[in-house]
Order: sequence, then structure tokens, then C-alpha cells
Amino acid sequence: ETESLQKQYEELAELDKKHFFHPSTSFKQQQADGPGFIFTEGKGIYLKDIRGREVIDSLSSLWNVNIGHGREELAVAAMEQMKKLAYSSTFATNSHEPVIRLAAKIAEMTPGDLNYTFFTCGGSESNDTAFKTARYYWKMKGYEKKTKIISRGKSYHGVSLGASPATELFPFRDFPGLSQEHLYVDSSIDALKELIEREGAETIAAIISEPVQGSGGVNLPPSEDFFKEVREICDQNDILFIADEVINGFYRTGTTFGIDNFGVVPDMLVFAKGVTSGYAPLGGVVFTDRLKEELTELTEGNFYHGYTYSGHNTACAVALKNLELIEQEKLNENVNQMGAELLKGFKYLEQTHDEIGNIRQIGLLGAIEIFKDRDTKTTFEEPLAPKVVEEALKHNMIGRAIIYEGQDTIAFAPPFCITKDEVEKMISIIDTSLTAVK
Ligand code: PLP
Repeated sequence: ETESLQKQYEELAELDKKHFFHPSTSFKQQQADGPGFIFTEGKGIYLKDIRGREVIDSLSSLWNVNIGHGREELAVAAMEQMKKLAYSSTFATNSHEPVIRLAAKIAEMTPGDLNYTFFTCGGSESNDTAFKTARYYWKMKGYEKKTKIISRGKSYHGVSLGASPATELFPFRDFPGLSQEHLYVDSSIDALKELIEREGAETIAAIISEPVQGSGGVNLPPSEDFFKEVREICDQNDILFIADEVINGFYRTGTTFGIDNFGVVPDMLVFAKGVTSGYAPLGGVVFTDRLKEELTELTEGNFYHGYTYSGHNTACAVALKNLELIEQEKLNENVNQMGAELLKGFKYLEQTHDEIGNIRQIGLLGAIEIFKDRDTKTTFEEPLAPKVVEEALKHNMIGRAIIYEGQDTIAFAPPFCITKDEVEKMISIIDTSLTAVK
């Protein structure tokens, strides 16, 4: 049987190499190695591949399969909706029940007067929508020059032509040469003030930030009040504040949205990933009542922005069921309980290994950093995290190393259904793997 599974793998691997242009992958590595895994099934925190191997998915795939793999109820929700009406347009004044109910549900969950949602298929499209709307808004108000978008160091906002220049993480941003209308700032209030002064507030449309940065290494804001101060600066300078909740949103950080940890209401809140736990592609931007009213007043005729799949019927039905299950099963509470277990595990690793420092955790989002000398924060010449992750794979865990900008970090964002035993297993695999490679 193993032989026949291997044969199946090899047949698919050939086709993969020939025909499948992988996202975010080294061409050379793909052509040399073929697919590492060809996944066929998933259950809870586990994924299974075509050769029968079962592995822990420590990052909920791409920080998105929050409810965990293999939830039949979501398949049933999709099937029921597809049997009735898989898709219908929402352009102009057309609508349907799942999109209406989901928009209302999201309004209930978001803070303040964020009550009005535009839907997309993911994070990048949502950030494009936020930037376009911000520029449109200022233009309609007569501020033609307010076009620039500020984002923070180590931010990740996606890869579309609008979102990639907002992504500060260098390898994603640089190659298309699109940065003119985008500005970057370190995570300090003084630096932000200086930047606005230098550029002139009259040229800046919006500031975008992940409340807790994900792909940049799981970075919390530099202080409790950081976002309150950003909010004030935005208000004083007529700059819109966009919270990118693509990873944080829908309970990942232990509160409903990441920004809830910091007591601030943004002008636009961008979401994707966790809204459907990855069971269907869906994202969106939530606008405040104030912006909604102003946009309505300022616009005669159409607002010419919409995707074919803005508010896809089946994706919305899946999102509604996903959010219902997470609440019904109190998985959102489990995020905090298991987050505490994760932190316990990090502390254990820190005590056991002199190389571990800078541990951080908020909800089920966490990271540990590896240092040659943690007291002076000196890193190894060659980062160790990729080696630890490679070793962890031998122990059947898919880990995520983050090594941009000199960081040597391992990030964790397991599914919300994780148990205490499973958290301990993840930690023990890292423990063993680190010992093996250092
Ligand atoms: N914004 C943030 C904070 C993200 O983490 C991501 C994806 O990881 C995106 C935007 C882009 O989302 P997508 O890949 O769905 O386009």
C-alpha cells in the first residue's frame, strides 16, 4: 500500500512541477524538490498528506483555519447554500440573505460605529478597497493631494498592486517598484509625527496598521497607548486610520478584534482569513457610520468599485456558520485558556534554552526568538529558526520561521480547538528540535 501511495504522490508531483505556479515559493526549490506535502485531509490541528503522514499545523495553515480542519458543519452549510443558490450578483441594488445577515453580524461584533461592510475575497483585495476608498473620500471632499498611505515597519498587508507597496517587509514590497505613494514609519509616535510633519498632512490619506503584527514576527505595539496616540494624531491631521485585522480578527488575539485590546475604533477595519476559517475565500472592509454617511452625501451616482465575488453567497453562508460554531462551542474562550498554556510553554523553553528570548503571546498568537546571546540580543550569523522548523518537521509538526530583517523567530498560531495536551506536544517538539540543532 505504501508503494501505491508513493506512486500516486510521484504522479501528482510531476504534474505539480510542470503546471502549478506556487504562491510565495522559490522556482528553483519547486523544480528541484517538488511538493513537500500533497495534503488530502485534515482534522482539528492535524493535516494528512497523500502518503499517509499526519502533521501538526501549528500556524492554522496561513493563520486562518481558526476553527480547525475537517468541520463537517461548514461543508453542510456550503452544500445547503449551493443547492439553493451558489452565487448571485450583489452589484447595484441586488442582494441576498447570507450577505445581509453576515454584514449585520459583523456590525454587532466590531467596536464603535463600524457598521457598514464591503465584501471581497481576501486580505489584499480588502486593503486595495480601503486605500482606494480613502483616496476617493479625500478627493470627493476636495483634498486632491491627500493620497499617500503610511504603514509601519515589519507590516504585511498583502501582495496586490495596491497592497504590496503598503507591505513594509522588504522582500514582498520591493520588486515591483511601486512605493511612490507609500510611506513607512518605525513603531514610534515621535517618528510618526516627524514623518507627517515632513510630508505634510495635506498629502496623507491614511495610516494602516495591524494591531498585532503577524507575518513581521508577531509584534505587539510598543506601548499600551500606542494606538490611542495614533488615533489622536489621525484625528488632529485629518488622516484616516485603517486597522488591518486580517490575522487578528475574529478572536485570534483573545478579544473579538485585535484593536479591542487597545480601546480604539478605526475608521476602517479590514478582515479576511478567520471570518470563514479558510473554508471559503472571503474578506472585507468595515466602515464607520460617519464614513458611510459622508460617502453617501459626497457621491452622486455610482461608486465604481466592486468585485464579481463581493459578498459571495456560499462564502457568506460558510462565514455565518463558522462564527456561530466558534461562539456556540466557546472556542473564543479556549483561545485565552490555551493562550495561557502556550505562554507557559514559552516560559519553559526560555528556562531550558539560553538561546530563547523575547517571548510574546496574545491569545493564540505567539512567538519566540532565538539569540546567540539573549542578554545583548545578538543573533546567530545564520538564523537558527529555519533549522529548528526543519527538525520539527521530522517530528511531524509544520512550524513557521520568520527571518526577515535579522529576526530569528518561530511563530505560533494554532487552531482555536487545540487542547492542553496538543499545546504541550508542540512545545515539546520545539524543545527537542532546538536541542538537536544548536
Ligand atoms: N493583511 C494581513 C495582516 C495579512 O496577514 C495578510 C495575509 O497574510 C493580508 C493582509 C493579505 O491577505 P490575502 O493573502 O488574503 O490577500
